[in-house]
Amino acid sequence: MKLLIAEDDLTSRTILAAVARKWGYEPIEVEDGEAAWEVLRRPEPPRLLLLDWMMPRLDGLALCRRIRREESSDPPFIILLTGRGETEDIVKALEAGANDHVAKPFENAELRARLDVGKRMLDLQEQLRRVTEALAIRATQDSLTGLLNRGAIMEALDQEMARAQRRQQTLCVGLCDIDHFKRVNDTHGHLAGDAVLREAARRIEAALRPFDHVGRYGGEEFLILVDATQDQAPALFERIRHVFADAPFVVEQAALDVTISCGATFFTPPADERIDTALIAAADAVLYRAKDAGRNRTVFAEAAVEAISG
Ligand code: GH3
Ligand code: MG
Ligand code: MG
Ligand code: MG
Repeated sequence: MKLLIAEDDLTSRTILAAVARKWGYEPIEVEDGEAAWEVLRRPEPPRLLLLDWMMPRLDGLALCRRIRREESSDPPFIILLTGRGETEDIVKALEAGANDHVAKPFENAELRARLDVGKRMLDLQEQLRRVTEALAIRATQDSLTGLLNRGAIMEALDQEMARAQRRQQTLCVGLCDIDHFKRVNDTHGHLAGDAVLREAARRIEAALRPFDHVGRYGGEEFLILVDATQDQAPALFERIRHVFADAPFVVEQAALDVTISCGATFFTPPADERIDTALIAAADAVLYRAKDAGRNRTVFAEAAVEAISG
């Protein structure tokens, strides 16, 4: 583990670095607080910090405060080297944000033990961060397709609506539903159905642009949010229709023809006062019309936009 040693006294610094290396740390030596701050700005900075209190330019205490002022999901573990080890100094050090202190002159054994505590804390912090990240992904991801799940795509819808309002831009909201999907399950089994859903998710993503959103809204229904006007959206939905209709889905050596129907509506601030569920209801209503009209097509809720079909 990297260890930042900030100490203005060359002899002390050299000795500290030598013992730290012997204990298995990778010391990075700097001569004052400003130099330490620069090291901490670099990518992959050390997380274990041993800071002398008295240093020119920026002392250990001030550096500590500066570090703690920053929001961090991965805060460093800071050990301050205090002059005398008097209660008042220790309190000051801890209040400035130090995790621990070692009084000069110190026994090597004590310093080593305190560094090792810091390392253990940082290892735990890292584990916790990984678990939290994994949980956050699991909480927003649909486990079958890897797309955003219903909760996450609804959250994205609210965010995109707010953004559309701020920028006075049109947001297109579409519901896409696989045609006759029940037949896939009935004929080829539920596992084949799952494989089709995974492939469907992959194809929709391929048809969209990086800044569009897609989530699994329900069983074989996908909610799509595209930053597109009434002029632009038809081509995009046509692309989605084509990535399904143009090439069969190959599942367990069978080639299945799978098509998709979509219903979409345009959220057009500032006049449009619909809430999120109203947009989905509007998209859903025209999705039914697309089904009734023969499937494998997109119908838009706004009369000005013509339906598109194969
Ligand atoms: P339509 O063209 O009118 O949409 O017909 P459909 O058969 O696609 O629609 P329906 O709503 O009758 O059937 C949807 C089916 O999707 C029923 C359900 O069992 C299946 N389904 C939902 N979620 C999953 C899933 O996670 N895996 C699999 N294999 N099937 C699913
Ligand atoms: Mg000093
Ligand atoms: Mg459905
Ligand atoms: Mg369906």
